[in-house]
Amino acid sequence: MPTKLRNRRKVIIIHTGGTIGMVQGKDGVLRPLQNPEMLLHSLPELADIAELELRVPFNLDSSNVQPSHWLQLAGIVRAEQNNCDGFVILHGTDTIAYTAAALSFLLADVMQPIILTGAQRPLCMLRTDARTNLTDAIELATRDIPETAVLFNNTLWRGNRTQKISSNRYSAFHSPNYPPLGQLGLHVTLNREYMRRERQNFFPTPHFETKVLCLKLHPGFTATLFDILPPANFKAVLLQGFGAGNIPLHPRLLQWLEAHSKRGLTIAIASQSPRGCVDLSLYEGGRAAQACGAISCRDMTIETSLVKMMLLQGTRSDRAEIEQLFTTALAGELGEEQMS
Ligand code: ASP
Repeated sequence: MPTKLRNRRKVIIIHTGGTIGMVQGKDGVLRPLQNPEMLLHSLPELADIAELELRVPFNLDSSNVQPSHWLQLAGIVRAEQNNCDGFVILHGTDTIAYTAAALSFLLADVMQPIILTGAQRPLCMLRTDARTNLTDAIELATRDIPETAVLFNNTLWRGNRTQKISSNRYSAFHSPNYPPLGQLGLHVTLNREYMRRERQNFFPTPHFETKVLCLKLHPGFTATLFDILPPANFKAVLLQGFGAGNIPLHPRLLQWLEAHSKRGLTIAIASQSPRGCVDLSLYEGGRAAQACGAISCRDMTIETSLVKMMLLQGTRSDRAEIEQLFTTALAGELGEEQMS
């Protein structure tokens, strides 16, 4: 597309922090840049792709990002959606998958591209991946992509299907149960057949309930731990079992499941295997969990399962409705395409 035409498109870049905009201090520690405007000033050629406007609502290492930040970002996108063609959100890679999942639910009625990206190596360092990721993300934000997506290392993933899998490789993300939405090589290839078509709005007044516990089972787990878990007034537990969602047939664990399920706690079984789908009917452990009242996270990532549970617990009071919505695709986060 000629530069002139491209200049008509406008992209709002929301910088939230992360390595992409960090500098290394004399002590060797990476910290957020004080003036993130430098990011765009050091790459003036990006203005050839689109008219750019920068917002900096916060500037954090993403391990500090909280549900209140997700709501803040959704508010900015909602307020600006009629003033631009697309959004790029610069975010730390550590929790980008959680933010992408949250935004995919909060903004499921927005059909503009919301492209999250970051970098493994700061923009100011040699051999950085920030330049490519930022350029690719802006390019994609000018396209017709009705998705909240993560762009990393030349690949575009559906946001609520991604997970960070490497702390040192440029290929830092995967999408275990959903194919890539696009690939950027010599040309931009978009896989439109995997993109969203419907506009939804399940959460007009969103709120995240943080009294949700994520617990990973392991060989040798101390059954007496279940005497003190979950803390009083917690609303839901995500129990990460094994493989197809199998859990140990430990009497204390099963008693715990049954008692808490009866008192109204929502218990969802996830898997420690990222690829594939939880099937509670396959083994005795899964069947026992189901008989005690547990539901399945199906093929959702653990990040998306947690965010979705927090959102449902924060916005719905009827347990049957929560469980029904949790196991139903609201923003393309489960089902559809099974990958082998
Ligand atoms: N600690 C950083 C963050 O998540 C890592 C990164 O951005 O790659 O903010």
